[in-house]
Amino acid sequence: MEVIDFHTHAFPDNLAERAMKALAEEGNIPYYLDGKVSSLLASMDKAGITKSALCSIATKVNQFASILKWSEEIRTDRIIPFPSLHPDDPDWPQHIRCIKKANFPGIKMHPYYQNFDADEDRLFPLYELIAREKLILVLHTGFDFAFPRIRKADPARIHRILQAVPGLLLVTTHLGAWEDWEEVQRYLLGKPIYMEISFSLEYLGVARSRFLILNHPPEYILFGTDSPWADQAKCLEEFRKLNLPSELEERILGENALALLKKAQ
Ligand SMILES: [Zn+2]
Repeated sequence: MEVIDFHTHAFPDNLAERAMKALAEEGNIPYYLDGKVSSLLASMDKAGITKSALCSIATKVNQFASILKWSEEIRTDRIIPFPSLHPDDPDWPQHIRCIKKANFPGIKMHPYYQNFDADEDRLFPLYELIAREKLILVLHTGFDFAFPRIRKADPARIHRILQAVPGLLLVTTHLGAWEDWEEVQRYLLGKPIYMEISFSLEYLGVARSRFLILNHPPEYILFGTDSPWADQAKCLEEFRKLNLPSELEERILGENALALLKKAQ
């Protein structure tokens, strides 16, 4: 059985140590791996995770090429890189096509680290092209540990994006929006929108996690951990504690991710 973690991070070996230290300090959060791909693979082996989506974040416009190149280097049947694009990138149309041409399934963007609001008008053409190219957009949604609580990617904004670009294969993080689950319930729950579950179960508790998951279309929930900021084995254990119907559990752990990745082929 496939177990797919739809939300992980890693860095090139020569940057990993520095990047992890800086990010952990900035966000004041613990981490569980040293940020290297080899360590992610070891963690996957230990947890019984077969594939991981590895999300990069271009914090500067000029990081596009190096992230794309590194993504090509680390790609295997177990590591599925999602390269990144900065919203200020003047060459975004070419770069979106580049990512498609290089056969990646999608793109990762992060409103806090890339300093944008998810529903800015200037971004709609970009979302439309991502949808037209049948790429998945993994978008950080909800608040972020490391930043002040200013709404940049909250459920109302996500809802607006989906109404404007209904064909977009959008994956929201942290069960719709981190630490904004009332709004998730109001704007996103029950709608055809992908949600991965990292950093949510431990905040919501079993009953509320179950409520949100069971009231969302079963094919739109994906297992995710946000490793190295969480321990994959522990996350899997917490997920299994929800005691969901086994058919739904299998969907969330792997089948949904496979079906979504297929849509992006
Ligand atoms: Zn993340």
